[in-house]
Amino acid sequence: MPEPLNVSTPIEFLKGIGPKRAEALAEDLGIRTCGDLLFHLPFRYEDRTRFHQVAECVPGPVQVQLRGTIRKFKEVKQKRGSRLEAEFADEEGDILPLVWFKGAQWIARNLPVGQPCVIWGRVSDYKGARNMAHPEILTLREARSASALHPVYGSSERLGRFGLHSNGLGQAIARLLDQLAKLHGNQWIEETLPEAILSMRGMPSLATALEQVHRPADANAERLARFRLKFEEFLFLQLLLVQHRNRQTVHQPGARFAQVGDMFKRFYTERIPFELTGAQKRVIREIREDTRNGQHMNRLLQGDVGSGKTMVALLTALIAVDNGYQACIMAPTEILAQQHHASFLEMLGDLPVRVELLTGSVKAADRKPILAGLAEGTVHLLIGTHAVLEPAVAFHNLGLVVIDEQHRFGVAQRARLWAKAKIPPHILVMTATPIPRTLSMTVYGDLDVSVIDELPPGRKPIRTVHRTDAQRLGVFGFMRDQIAEGRQVYVVYPLIEESAQLDHKDLMDGYESLTRHFPPPEYRLSIVHGRMKAEDKDAEMQRFASGVTQIMVATTVIEVGVNVPNASVMVIESAERFGLSQMHQLRGRVGRGAAQSFCILMSGKELGKEARRRLETMCRTQDGFEIAEVDLELRGPGDLMGTKQSGVLDLKVADLVKDRVLLEDARDVARRILKEDPELERNRHVLLKAGVERLRASRPDWSRIS
Ligand code: ADP
Ligand code: MG
Repeated sequence: MPEPLNVSTPIEFLKGIGPKRAEALAEDLGIRTCGDLLFHLPFRYEDRTRFHQVAECVPGPVQVQLRGTIRKFKEVKQKRGSRLEAEFADEEGDILPLVWFKGAQWIARNLPVGQPCVIWGRVSDYKGARNMAHPEILTLREARSASALHPVYGSSERLGRFGLHSNGLGQAIARLLDQLAKLHGNQWIEETLPEAILSMRGMPSLATALEQVHRPADANAERLARFRLKFEEFLFLQLLLVQHRNRQTVHQPGARFAQVGDMFKRFYTERIPFELTGAQKRVIREIREDTRNGQHMNRLLQGDVGSGKTMVALLTALIAVDNGYQACIMAPTEILAQQHHASFLEMLGDLPVRVELLTGSVKAADRKPILAGLAEGTVHLLIGTHAVLEPAVAFHNLGLVVIDEQHRFGVAQRARLWAKAKIPPHILVMTATPIPRTLSMTVYGDLDVSVIDELPPGRKPIRTVHRTDAQRLGVFGFMRDQIAEGRQVYVVYPLIEESAQLDHKDLMDGYESLTRHFPPPEYRLSIVHGRMKAEDKDAEMQRFASGVTQIMVATTVIEVGVNVPNASVMVIESAERFGLSQMHQLRGRVGRGAAQSFCILMSGKELGKEARRRLETMCRTQDGFEIAEVDLELRGPGDLMGTKQSGVLDLKVADLVKDRVLLEDARDVARRILKEDPELERNRHVLLKAGVERLRASRPDWSRIS
């Protein structure tokens, strides 16, 4: 070993580890250095303050601790090797047999027979009698010096075979801490946070925190230690994200929308048929702030289905037009683009704003004047699908891009849009999938976020109920009543890639059965699924949208944005198989008109715990953010919106769900620091800069996620 043991020493050189164990540690737990080992934190602690008596011990999973002596032992030969049996007596003289099935000889040599000792383990039932297998044995002195909170570590089966199960790891860590302290005093690890931040929050040094998290003096010391480690983790992440965001926006020029002009004012006073909600007004103000002074806007607009995001998009587009810029609104499907186009034309009325639609099905002859108008600047507002990304589409002066329903557009596509303007156009991404605040502060941390958290007045809450398959006839009866009142109904089936064949069959069977219960000519049904050609899908959608058919049977293809205000019932089949946010999106397809709307969740009788929770949540609330939080809790952040690949959430200590408050705190601190010192150049921020650079380097694929 070239230098004395320190935190960057490869773990192989720690006494008792060696190359084999080092390899297993690296592969199973990602531990390569002594420092890595110290960041392998206990996931819980056992309370070792309490001693039990043999008389009160019952077989079960709880570990107990007893004080007494080991009186005698014997080795019992078995077919292979031998078993060790011993007799333990507590201070009352009650006996508990101990047994070891492995390592009998070695253990027999080390048993402290006749001396007071402490044993620790699980009591089991063996042929009607109690015993304890493989207890941990400590001398009284060891027990006294051991911490009351005994750490429990995650390990692997292979590591267990190497003697590095929870206790083995704990011993290695304790040994390492002792050696480091002996060699380097309390300088054994470099402090990573400035003194001012530590003292402001009453947090311990890094050395103390690591010591106390592994060998806590008491519960409070452990709590403080963990607090500091989590805070640090969040703080560096937030410094990185906020700095990144600032570089993207504040320090990057964008089109300057200096004024609110005629188009906006006239539209606002003459054309909007309703009063904007408070939330809509607030978001418009936020967008104005971003765009008025030549900074670049990169904003995510979240708002539940029906919260009126489209109006915000249109108003923002008019501000662009007022300042001599063009705007482009991208929708994920042709139908949506058409809907936007039609409703914009209607809303704008006779205002002198030229709006054009560009999708894959616009014919070459019709395309020409549109493309020419875009290049000259006479087309003010372009609405379209992916078609607008084609190289032939060139803008005169593109200043704003609105992307409706974000997850269908990748980073690469957005980059192509950027390339269509001299200065990058402002970006407004609109999504109806609520993103829990914790995620918008981490995964989406480089975007500014606006939220429409208020629905236009007069919306009736959608009544949501859960019905089992046995109640199907009742549901059909209800659908008939609604149709008789002139309403329309969606019936949606799950479609999961892994079971696509079966799911398709379910859909077809369901459709079959519905046509029997809802026969023509009285009833007319539409069906839409992924195996249909795009134009056939569109045609069916149009038939439903225009009221020709009354029931739309579909897989989740209808999830995104269609607007059929007359539809008042959403039936979700096999609802237990849908994720929460997906069901929430589907439910948003109804409740768009004046009629009372309903969502019926169909499932079998037997439900797993999580499925039950999902259905209950849907029946209880319509608040997208609340639903998103439950979703996050049930699924964990890794599963949500493809964040797994992004690696942003590789948190070591902190937990996005449990430590939200701390995350917000760290966010505030990071913002304050960067406001004062954007590039962390001040002396007192040396440590912070180093920490951020370390983090940046450890995530080589760091890039814009959204
Ligand atoms: P989403 O956020 O799902 O895109 P939309 O923009 O499609 O929602 O709005 C849903 C409906 O609500 C539209 O018919 C729209 O005209 C209407 N709307 C939007 N804002 C308001 C408002 N402030 N008051 C009343 N109706 C509104
Ligand atoms: Mg919309």
